Amino acid sequence: MNIHEHQAKAVLAEFGCPVPRGFAAFTAAEAEDAAKKLGGPVFVVKSQIHAGGRGKGKFEGLAPDAKGGVRVVKSVEEVKANAEEMLGRVLVTHQTGPKGKQVNRLYIEEGAAIAKEFYLSLLVDRETSFVSVVCSTEGGMDIEDVAHATPEKIHTFSIDPATGVWPTHQRALAKALGLTGGLAKEAASLLTQLYTAFLAKDMAMLEINPLIVTADDHLRVLDAKLSFDGNALFRHPDIRELRDTSEEDPKEIEASKFDLAYIALDGEIGCMVNGAGLAMATMDIIKLYGAEPANFLDVGGGASKEKVTAAFKIITADPAVKGILVNIFGGIMRCDIIAEGVIAAVKEVGLAVPLVVRLEGTNVELGKKIISESGLNVIAANDLSDGAEKIVAAVKGAK
Ligand code: GDP
Ligand code: MN
Repeated sequence: MNIHEHQAKAVLAEFGCPVPRGFAAFTAAEAEDAAKKLGGPVFVVKSQIHAGGRGKGKFEGLAPDAKGGVRVVKSVEEVKANAEEMLGRVLVTHQTGPKGKQVNRLYIEEGAAIAKEFYLSLLVDRETSFVSVVCSTEGGMDIEDVAHATPEKIHTFSIDPATGVWPTHQRALAKALGLTGGLAKEAASLLTQLYTAFLAKDMAMLEINPLIVTADDHLRVLDAKLSFDGNALFRHPDIRELRDTSEEDPKEIEASKFDLAYIALDGEIGCMVNGAGLAMATMDIIKLYGAEPANFLDVGGGASKEKVTAAFKIITADPAVKGILVNIFGGIMRCDIIAEGVIAAVKEVGLAVPLVVRLEGTNVELGKKIISESGLNVIAANDLSDGAEKIVAAVKGAK
């Protein structure tokens, strides 16, 4: 789960991290109040969306040379005027995709005088089961670009959860960022604070870009992006409350209610599959036959008829879906349950696109019988490639 920048900074502040003062604002009037409380002389008006690249982003409907989603201004009046222009407007960044995201809230912050910009992130290294720290002196820009153009400027080290942060890690960070004296000490404390926050809140990723050195020689967290391990959210009610469903795909929200592993994608073939590995293989083979999957969907091992019905409804409700491939290997999951779920869903919502069903495994004969006797216009497939070939042909043929 992702949260907004202003929420991320509040979480980090709980652990003592140095973040600038600021207030969230949902209206221009709230933005004006926030600016008055901050006092100035410099303010930053920051769009709050779950995507990066806001500074260089472009607002829809404004001149191409208009300022982006992060604006540094010098008066309360300018804060208000910029808030009026930004709120409700769609911001397009390299991370939002061409559709962009509507800005529904702002963060009004005290402005900082920047001497240097760094990059710093923590993430789980699945190979070693350690927390990896990634840092670079090249902050404020896209870290992927830095990794591509100047990989030697990216430094990485790992922290063993059995021992936690050691002075060697703190020195490694200061050295990589070229910090000495008081700044090295601040970097050392910051690393401990970030690592503590990362573990305490079960984060999956913590990214600060940029971490800055201010003109008066202190470290400040100028931008913060946190994402949390969804499987650990049950033990963090405070974090769960920060969820902003307006930032999420409605289809994914619906799927999460039924505990379905569903990810919306850009293609035209809806997939209903059991097992993550089989779902991946199904997506691959659809691509192999020349089409693109509209989603990843794993209905799970022991799905009920209700769960299958819900999954099928989510797929058919997507206007991008031009055909559906149901690919089930019945192990724990019985093929007759899948067949009943599909039929119940079709009866409820209808079926306007071709449907290919491939069933294999437990109760496969019963499952096939239920489908063939249902009178539904279903194309039966014998195996994985047969299924993919048939659905791609049906979709391309219908065009
Ligand atoms: P992002 O574009 O979504 O990553 O948003 P950031 O929060 O990183 O802001 C983009 C850029 O705006 C930063 O890299 C800074 O260069 C600049 N910026 C943000 N806050 C301030 C500030 O307080 N003072 C100044 N001078 N620049 C800022
Ligand atoms: Mn940033």
